[in-house]
Amino acid sequence: MTDSLPQLEAQRSDLFHQIVSIGDFRRGSITPTSGKCGKTNCHCAKRDDAGHGPNFRLTRRVKGKTRTETFPSPAALRKAQQEVTEFHRFQRLCGELVEVSEKICALRPVQDTLTPEEKKRPKSSTKRSRAK
Ligand SMILES: [Zn+2]
Repeated sequence: MTDSLPQLEAQRSDLFHQIVSIGDFRRGSITPTSGKCGKTNCHCAKRDDAGHGPNFRLTRRVKGKTRTETFPSPAALRKAQQEVTEFHRFQRLCGELVEVSEKICALRPVQDTLTPEEKKRPKSSTKRSRAK
C-alpha cells in the first residue's frame, strides 16, 4: 500500500462521481421460479417438456418477512433487474468509498485548528483547568 493522500482523494472523488451516476435502485434479488410445477398430471412432468415459464420473481426481506413480487411483463422484469443491478453497484461503490475515506483519515495529518482563545483557556482559568 503506497497510496498517497492526493491519490486517495482522486479515488474518492471518482467514486463520488460514479455514485452520482447510479440510476434508480432497489433492494431484492430476482430468481427464476422452477420450470416444473410438480403436478404429476401436468405436461411439465414429461421429461422433455420445457416446463412453465421461465417466471421470475423478486424477493426481499422486509422487517424479517420475505416479500415476493412478480412481474406482469418482460419489460417490467427487465426494469427491475436493472434496478437491482444498480443497487449492487451502489453497495459496492459505497463500500469502496468507505475504505478509501478511512485510508484518507488515517493519512491526513492533524492540523492546528484551535483558536487562540481555545489555546489560552486552560491557562487563563486555573480553577477549571482539570474539569474538562
Ligand atoms: Zn406444470
